Amino acid sequence: SLSDRLNGVFDRLRGRGALSESDVRAAMREVRIALLEADVALPVVREFVDKATEQAVGQQVLRSVTPGQQVVKIVNDALVEMLGSDAVDLNVDVTPPAIIMMVGLQGSGKTTTTAKIAKRLTEKGRKKVLMASLDVNRPAAQEQLATLGTQASVATLPIVAGQQPVDIAKRALQAAKLQGYDVLMLDTAGRLHVDQALMDEMKAVAGVADPEEILLVVDALTGQDAVNVASSFSEQVPLTGVVLTRMDGDARGGAALSMRHVTGKPIKFVGTGEKLDGLELFQPQRVAGRILGMGDVVSLVEKAAETIKVEEAEALAARMAKGQFDMNDLRNQLKQMQRMGGLSGLASMLPGIKQVKQAVANGAADDKVLVRMDAIIGSMTPKERTKPELLNAKRKIRVAKGSGTTVQEVNKLLKMHQDMSTMMKKVKKMGGLKQLGALFG
Ligand code: GDP
Ligand code: MG
Repeated sequence: SLSDRLNGVFDRLRGRGALSESDVRAAMREVRIALLEADVALPVVREFVDKATEQAVGQQVLRSVTPGQQVVKIVNDALVEMLGSDAVDLNVDVTPPAIIMMVGLQGSGKTTTTAKIAKRLTEKGRKKVLMASLDVNRPAAQEQLATLGTQASVATLPIVAGQQPVDIAKRALQAAKLQGYDVLMLDTAGRLHVDQALMDEMKAVAGVADPEEILLVVDALTGQDAVNVASSFSEQVPLTGVVLTRMDGDARGGAALSMRHVTGKPIKFVGTGEKLDGLELFQPQRVAGRILGMGDVVSLVEKAAETIKVEEAEALAARMAKGQFDMNDLRNQLKQMQRMGGLSGLASMLPGIKQVKQAVANGAADDKVLVRMDAIIGSMTPKERTKPELLNAKRKIRVAKGSGTTVQEVNKLLKMHQDMSTMMKKVKKMGGLKQLGALFG
């Protein structure tokens, strides 16, 4: 991994004070390779590396971390900053209809993403959404959107044969106004390359529709071409954001950095599958980890380092190794989680850990729930805390009464304790806690 390679570079440096310019430059050669491997466009890599070098040179090497780890953190922080620190939602709370126009190369995922966003706005945002396809180039493109609309239970503009894109846009706008839609989504025709006739068509549509959002849809597998795509689209229309599709595949997501850098616009969503629920808000930390090839471990390490003390973690690791993760440990973990932004924060950093995600989905992420869980553990006897299997039906009723909760909640907590034990074992398998330990000062 990048971390190992950097430790190689810095082998001699440990404990030698500040990061020198020549050491940092050697490290940045590895970073540069990692970024290019992740498909970040070359000019973007250059600029990024220069910036990160500037930030790293002269920094004191912390006693408790290796210089390699320190550089990873500096690079990671710079990457997150460049990707945009917070998720930016769609601007749809305007006088209706809010218009969202989708643009991008052919096959990038515009039509699919149009339906995904419409579904999300309908279900999560409770908006009344109308979709219209302006793609008169590809055969059956309008039917494709109609089919997706049926799947997503979202209305589509009736198809009128022979109508041109600008006229379809006008008709869609009128229908949206007359029929009281909150949001109108315009799916435009794709371009194989950046083609001026189609660019002009896109500009004309943007001219009549005056959209709140113009989203550029880009395939995450776009490599060095990302800069070209981004600059030609953003020169022609005022983009408001980017959607990165196919992040469910092998793409490391370097295109995110290129897009963000060239357009200056936020990446709003990532596509994570062909199905209509395969859409997530963009999470810079997560993508930064992926670009660096370090998963989400970097952000986990970071957050954990802020909040957990090394002795606590080591003691916990030792107990877990012996299979002794008990209610006292769970109680401590709950407190730490509260500090780490709740369970949902932790779960989002540990992809694939189903049990915890489920706990979150069941409402365990709520702060109030964490407080109630604490009360439940507080009502257990010391013996029950170390041996939760003692909790039979009778004891559960006592604990529920004592904590002002219900037996159902007690059961939920016991289930979560089991899930946590499983999760902790996984983290341990990843070498997680050892790595974490190295960062605690
Ligand atoms: P358009 O030409 O830009 O409208 O692209 P489409 O929406 O028709 O998508 C082209 C292909 O990419 C279709 O087969 C989609 O199912 C697929 N696709 C779109 N988004 C994603 C995604 O996030 N992940 C995966 N795996 N496939 C996607
Ligand atoms: Mg399409």
